[in-house]
Amino acid sequence: MARSITVVAPSSTANLGPGFDVFGLALDAFFDEVTLTKKITKNVSIQTGDDIPTNPDKNTAGLVVKNMMKKFNIKDGIEIKIKKNVPAGYGMGSSAASAAAAAVAFDKLYRLKLDGNLLVECAGVGEKASAGAIHYDNVAASVLGGFVIVRTNPLDIIKIDPPANLRMVIGVPHLKVPKKKTKVSRGVIPKKINFTDSILNLSNASAIVAGFMNKDSELIGKSIKDVIVEPARKQLIPGFSKVKENALKAGALGVTISGAGPSVIAFSNSSGNLKKISRAISKGFISAKIQSQTIICKPSIGASIKK
Ligand code: ADP
Repeated sequence: MARSITVVAPSSTANLGPGFDVFGLALDAFFDEVTLTKKITKNVSIQTGDDIPTNPDKNTAGLVVKNMMKKFNIKDGIEIKIKKNVPAGYGMGSSAASAAAAAVAFDKLYRLKLDGNLLVECAGVGEKASAGAIHYDNVAASVLGGFVIVRTNPLDIIKIDPPANLRMVIGVPHLKVPKKKTKVSRGVIPKKINFTDSILNLSNASAIVAGFMNKDSELIGKSIKDVIVEPARKQLIPGFSKVKENALKAGALGVTISGAGPSVIAFSNSSGNLKKISRAISKGFISAKIQSQTIICKPSIGASIKK
């Protein structure tokens, strides 16, 4: 058996507007790299040059490894080396990418041959370290790739391959994000929702699924509309309304907050003017005196062993 293994896992966007805590899409924008190495010392340690917790109980990859050791009764010592590339705390599934890479690496290292649902379940445990609660949308996308629908009780992940021409433009504002950003942005979500709003969101969420099934990027983009969570969260993102307005004017099919924000994601297809949409997003942030980085990306195929 190998002593060491390296897995890369992609960034992801959760929610896609109306699919709060249910939809996820893997993005080939950034990748985290996690190397697991068996050690003689009987402990779990983390090595990283990045600004993330090195206490395994507070790190998403650490929590995944500790939990999998317990679940599968493995008593080795393991060193976890993490190379972050997905910026942490910007709504692109950074904590999830490390957790996904760790779960897939552990599965390969010990030849567990877990199925997709079990891998996602193991990776989801890691999110406790960042969001305070387990949620599966980002980890499911990062582990399995493509578009995912998360059903819980029992956990059941449905994966659909995205249309080949689907493209996204992400706008990452240069804002200082609070350490517990996901908790903060969960705090502003309405406790009660209007019945008509829930119908509107359900209709758009259903249309997004139909869009992925029919490989129809136009339908996906046009259905990225959320009247419940986005209106509550946009206050946390300076310039959001202008960014959205600009991107739509530049030809984006739909625009929303990526995960818990503050990144914004615009949906388009390969024949859309993606550079124009990027510029429109940057200008929107500048109207609120904020610099940003924009990334044009495609869906990712998910976590894989680094060759
Ligand atoms: P994202 O939107 O990128 O998923 P979250 O707000 O959910 O971000 O998580 C970021 C938080 O998680 C940061 O406070 C970070 O310190 C913590 N964290 C713990 N482990 C990791 C990890 N391996 N990678 C990234 N962030 C981590």
